[in-house]
Amino acid sequence: MSTGAPHVRACHLYPEHLNIYADRGNIAVLQRRLEWRGLVLEVVEAGIGDPIPADCHLYYLGGGQDRDQKLVAEDLIAKADPLRLAAAGGAVVLGVCGGYQLLGHRYAAADGRPIPGIGMLDLETTAADSRLIGDVVLDVTLGGRTDTVVGYENHAGRTHLGGGCTPLGHLRRGHGNNGADGCEGAVAGRTVGTYLHGPLLPKNPWLADTLLGWALECAGSAADLEPLDDRLEQAAHAEAATRAGQKR
Ligand code: GLN
Repeated sequence: MSTGAPHVRACHLYPEHLNIYADRGNIAVLQRRLEWRGLVLEVVEAGIGDPIPADCHLYYLGGGQDRDQKLVAEDLIAKADPLRLAAAGGAVVLGVCGGYQLLGHRYAAADGRPIPGIGMLDLETTAADSRLIGDVVLDVTLGGRTDTVVGYENHAGRTHLGGGCTPLGHLRRGHGNNGADGCEGAVAGRTVGTYLHGPLLPKNPWLADTLLGWALECAGSAADLEPLDDRLEQAAHAEAATRAGQKR
């Protein structure tokens, strides 16, 4: 298909393995929010053994259980250089839960064995005996905007950030990275990691648009993202915040 509209390319990494809690929905949201504005998001899938396209403007890694993380870890290391290069060129990288952990240096899984990550985020994760589960509300400042982000977490991993990245947000409700320091997720440049499922983006349209704005910029388009009618999304956001015990 050839249209004059700015063309954003996204790479969905390991859609077969890293896709729990409907994380695939994040891609659908990115696609629709561009479509509603007459723009195009082309999605390329890259699984184990597939080459990773170097010319995408957004790369996405969803959540996965320890077992699936182990299956993809070695392959992700083989893909790390082009991914790093793309990020250095302004591409967005979004990792959710298991994908977030693999963007760090390593994840010591529940069986005690370390699963190597690719160190694009300066963080380490260690599984504990208990899981951190429930609704989450956090305050996030990203791309010049401060707002709340809502979602659902379910992870055994306790993640601790090093000095090379900053938390995505500060918790109002929920456990976040490690249940102790009040922080959730991590950001370094346009590489963003979070434990939030839901999926993340349908209930957080402003966050989706922040990522899309970066991806469009990376695609060389100065196109402004015109506001959409987000009443349904805002209602879902408010409902999730209420469920988490945080009226908003
Ligand atoms: N296996 C990881 C953990 O439990 C990630 C789980 C997930 O992606 N929900 O910490």
